[in-house]
Amino acid sequence: MIRNISALSGVQYDVVIVGSGIHGAVLALEAARAGYSVALFEKEDFGHFTSANSLKIIHGGIRYLQHADFKRMRESIVSRRSMMQFAPHLVKPLACLMPTYGHGFKGREMMRLAFGLYDIVAFDRNKGLEKVNQLLPGTSLSADECKWIVPGVKEEGLTGGAVWHDAIASDSERLVLEYVKEAARYGAAVANYTEVLRLQTENGSVSGVVIRDLRTGEERNVMCRSVVNAAGPWLGTLAGDSHALNGQRWAVSANIIVKKQLVKNYAVGLEGHDDFIDSDALIKRGKRLFFFVPWQKKYTMIGTTCDPYHGSADSFSLTTEEIEKILTDINTMYPAAALTMEDVTFFHGGLLPMKSADGENADSVQLDKSSKVIDHGLEGGPRGMLSIKGVKYTTAPDIAGRVIQMLEGFFSPVPGKSGVYRTVSPRNVDFGPTVNRLGSEYAKIRDYLQRGYGTHWREVFSHLVESGSVENDGLLWISEEHPLLFAELHYFLREEMVYNLSDVVFRRSNLGSAECPEIKTLSVIVDIMGEELGWDAEERARQIEQVLQVFSPLQNAM
Ligand SMILES: Cc1cc2nc3c(=O)[nH]c(=O)nc-3n(C[C@H](O)[C@H](O)[C@H](O)COP(=O)(O)OP(=O)(O)OC[C@H]3O[C@@H](n4cnc5c(N)ncnc54)[C@H](O)[C@@H]3O)c2cc1C
Repeated sequence: MIRNISALSGVQYDVVIVGSGIHGAVLALEAARAGYSVALFEKEDFGHFTSANSLKIIHGGIRYLQHADFKRMRESIVSRRSMMQFAPHLVKPLACLMPTYGHGFKGREMMRLAFGLYDIVAFDRNKGLEKVNQLLPGTSLSADECKWIVPGVKEEGLTGGAVWHDAIASDSERLVLEYVKEAARYGAAVANYTEVLRLQTENGSVSGVVIRDLRTGEERNVMCRSVVNAAGPWLGTLAGDSHALNGQRWAVSANIIVKKQLVKNYAVGLEGHDDFIDSDALIKRGKRLFFFVPWQKKYTMIGTTCDPYHGSADSFSLTTEEIEKILTDINTMYPAAALTMEDVTFFHGGLLPMKSADGENADSVQLDKSSKVIDHGLEGGPRGMLSIKGVKYTTAPDIAGRVIQMLEGFFSPVPGKSGVYRTVSPRNVDFGPTVNRLGSEYAKIRDYLQRGYGTHWREVFSHLVESGSVENDGLLWISEEHPLLFAELHYFLREEMVYNLSDVVFRRSNLGSAECPEIKTLSVIVDIMGEELGWDAEERARQIEQVLQVFSPLQNAM
């Protein structure tokens, strides 16, 4: 994947996509695959904002049962399957449990019935999936089993637990990147650190965009026939005074990660303490659900909270006070957790679109329930411009399908123009001597690379071979606890457009996905990157500081 901004001039793209969160990334692949010529621009690193902050559950929409919304359920089921097919190494089954109380709406019998209904609606959930990735039907557990899985769960009225099977993106940041890379293999031009500054129009129709390469400061025009705005909380910036996005309100949503295994084997849904009225639900539970998700063996991810946000997307960051409040809420709903700020090793925060307030629920935070695609041409804006208001990571494939249908209404792809799968020419590398030299270590490295890169693991392994480090008795691992090979860093620099230490720490590897990496690890990486990217000592220190800064709300805790 090569970043080549100067090659963009003089080409007219069918579609320019603004923003590479999950929505922009999946769309780039699907549009390129459909035969459109595509350019995808991301002003920071691919997937750095909302999409890096989700709870990583690839929801099959079981919760829409309480809304009797079978359409949304089907969209979620089909999208989940699409993600599990696209990256089976990154999207895995997740067993989920909800403790049940009494024998009414929240009782075991009712839940069992509901999950049976869900299994009927999700009859084709496993079509085309590998056996190990297939999702089992729902079931139920006894109260004793439930107490073993969730030690300290509220026991009064506990009748057992209802179980369903969903999926989790073990690395949601790399999943975004995998879509971007596959789009590039299909011929899409993709660039991170490139901001779309404004639209250009001719006779009321989109004719191009002005972009700025944030690495050089250079601006240029890129011609195109349509623009899809997938800018997340920055949607309004390009949309101008579009009626459809006027007055859009945003909510802060957040999760925390704690270095404690609070629950065993299952992601567990527990009811929050505060009252919450879901205005659209037919069956109102009266509380918001929080999920406790076992994460990377030693940790638990817990979320998700929602509060109104009044600032700009540019100035958003989670504060120490907000994290402390989440912690208090969790301790109130599940006292056995007994969490302190020392247990919190990381957090996720992002902005999600809120529904406009209605009288009855003006004080409660109601998130938009469904993603929308806005055709600005129908609202008095430029023809050929669409905006994606995305509310769920999971349903990005469904939204991409809808956008392609709308693009087909504008114009058809020119056969043979794009959508051509450009294979990377196979490297002429002999793995034999390295495999022999690695001995038993080879299987460990191969399995590790397969877990991270799926069928592309050989591309990374070839960097291990080419560096010759094994033959020269060189070091293999930069870090073993949160694993990272020297060969991977080599690969990121040459094939995955990394320009900052934070790209490596947060979005190419798992180094920073659960807690702050050790300074000595960061120093090793920054020295290698510094040699390649020409960083002086001051820049190397700045790069490390930028990573540490992300964790600063935890250091500021009293
Ligand atoms: C705490 C939390 C938990 C969540 N949990 C889940 C979950 O478990 N499951 C689930 O399905 N969903 C979940 N979600 C929702 C999901 O994460 C979001 O709906 C989804 O990631 C939004 O993706 P997006 O592509 O629309 O936006 P983003 O990921 O924000 O991407 C927009 C991108 O556009 C770029 N951009 C903006 N302006 C420009 C410009 N002018 N030029 C170039 N680039 C630009 C931005 O830099 C950004 O990278 C959660 C969200 C949060 C915050």
